[in-house]
Amino acid sequence: AASHEDSNAYRWAALVGLTGALVTGAAAFASQADALEQEQKKTKIVILGTGWGATSFLNALKLKKNPLYDVQVVSPRNYFLFSPLLPAAATGTVDTKSIVDPIRGHLDRSCNYFKAEALQINHKEKTVTCCYEKPVWRTCDLAGKDKVFDLSYDVLIVAVGAVTNTFGVPGVTDHCFFLKSAEDAKAIRERVNACFELANLPDSTEEDRKRLLSFVVAGGGPTGTELAAELNDLIFEDMIRYFPRVQRSDISIRQIDSHDHILSAFDRSISAYATDHFRRSGIDLILNCRIKAVEENRVVVLDQTKNEMRQVPFGTCIWTTGIRMHPLAEKLAQQLQAQEHWRSLKVDRHLLVKGTQDIFALGDASTIEQEKVFSHAEELFEEGDTNHDGKLSSEELQDLLMRERKRYPQLIEIAARVPPNSELTKEDFQGHLAELDKSLRSVPATAQVAHQEGHYLGKLFRKHHISGSGLPEDAPEFVYNNKGSLAYIGGDKAVIDPGEAMNFLKYIKGWFMGFGWKSAEIAMQASLKNQLAVMYDFMKTKMFGRDISDI
Ligand code: FAD
Repeated sequence: AASHEDSNAYRWAALVGLTGALVTGAAAFASQADALEQEQKKTKIVILGTGWGATSFLNALKLKKNPLYDVQVVSPRNYFLFSPLLPAAATGTVDTKSIVDPIRGHLDRSCNYFKAEALQINHKEKTVTCCYEKPVWRTCDLAGKDKVFDLSYDVLIVAVGAVTNTFGVPGVTDHCFFLKSAEDAKAIRERVNACFELANLPDSTEEDRKRLLSFVVAGGGPTGTELAAELNDLIFEDMIRYFPRVQRSDISIRQIDSHDHILSAFDRSISAYATDHFRRSGIDLILNCRIKAVEENRVVVLDQTKNEMRQVPFGTCIWTTGIRMHPLAEKLAQQLQAQEHWRSLKVDRHLLVKGTQDIFALGDASTIEQEKVFSHAEELFEEGDTNHDGKLSSEELQDLLMRERKRYPQLIEIAARVPPNSELTKEDFQGHLAELDKSLRSVPATAQVAHQEGHYLGKLFRKHHISGSGLPEDAPEFVYNNKGSLAYIGGDKAVIDPGEAMNFLKYIKGWFMGFGWKSAEIAMQASLKNQLAVMYDFMKTKMFGRDISDI
């Protein structure tokens, strides 16, 4: 009887166990099915780029807390680069490593990053064709591996930036350095070192030294100006002390611009201050000159005041004159009819690419549709025409346009492109505006804009589930908040053109601002690690000078 009772107890135990296992299994299966369903419901986002726009979008999306999206990032650069300090990196003031931050640190394990380049956006198929470089390693042969793959998306974020514009000037790509990437900064640094080492050799003649140590910066915008200033600091604060065979008179730094002043996007009084500061520091400003060709060891320019050609010799020429549309964006624009004649992808106020429902573009790759800026520019013309003779000089018109630049940043570019030294009638000006309509950006191509756009879009995606079939009606529009522009002009001095946030200030300049500039550059770094590294580099440079070794 005892054994019969035992076997009954065993049967009951087995039955209870089996039921338990079945219930747990079913629950696990249900939760797996739920997870699968949730996974399938996720919107597939593909982000192209790891620069200012893309990184700010990723950070604002808060991936770790966001179950709505399945994110994949594609970029040939596996790090974020703090571009405003590239001139300082090119001259050894900061270490290039201090201004880069690995992109994987901004990602969660649930999303992936592919080190590849997007070649083509197939808008109808909702795919992106990407390619990666086949590595050539001594110990591992990857030959035969496919270099191209496709990624499908529900929503695509295009944040590929722009590329350097050579304006079709012959010889630029063959003879000039650029300053767009960390590699460019490294190449410039190596070149400056090499020129000084060669000039210092026992058999160098005075002619050799003068040729080797003549540096030309093409472009008087913020990048060119900061580079010329940093180069001047590097050479006259550090290099000159260590190369006994090199004399001050062997060295020349020249900056060329087509305007009659540098920093033309800044307030006129700031550009006048910077121009004057440069002249006093010994930088030779070649103004009112348009570059027509770059040949080996010389730049050919058209002097617009004398209307004659002249030649500017160089040992090293660095081209910093502006940007043009990225080829990937160009190819997409060609597929979309709403995109003709633009210098970057035309987007609406939600950064949605015109002619699509599922592609957003931000940063240098995009431009927001024009607002009423042209009619406002015409109103300004009428306002300035106090004589009522229907005419204004270029200078009067430029001043008027620049006065309102904080409200409408596009006016900076309109002013910059007013034909110099002439009298304009209203009809001339209207014709000029009609020409500009094809190419003008609505917001400047700056890190500040790209960052704000990325933040806006990331927040929009976080608050609403954007699935690639249009936007909710209550989605807010992007509004650019101009926080002002800073530029380093050398000798620990900087200038700031305050934005709307500090509209009560006209400008700040000098040493005090130099300290402000350094503090701002430190504070704006992508991570605490970068902030500490840049602060350390600035201090090290101040105490011990710049690192002038080849490594
Ligand atoms: P980027 O930051 O250029 O990022 C583009 C990204 O796209 C990169 O990660 C790139 O690797 C990736 N990419 C490129 N091609 C592909 C492809 N085919 N497929 C996938 N990914 C691709 N702005 C300021 O506001 N203040 C400054 O002081 C300032 N200083 C500057 C100094 C220098 C020397 C330079 C070059 C620029 C400076 N700028 C400054 C401008 C600023 O850097 C740009 O406006 C900003 O980087 C634009 O951000 P973005 O995200 O559009 O593009």
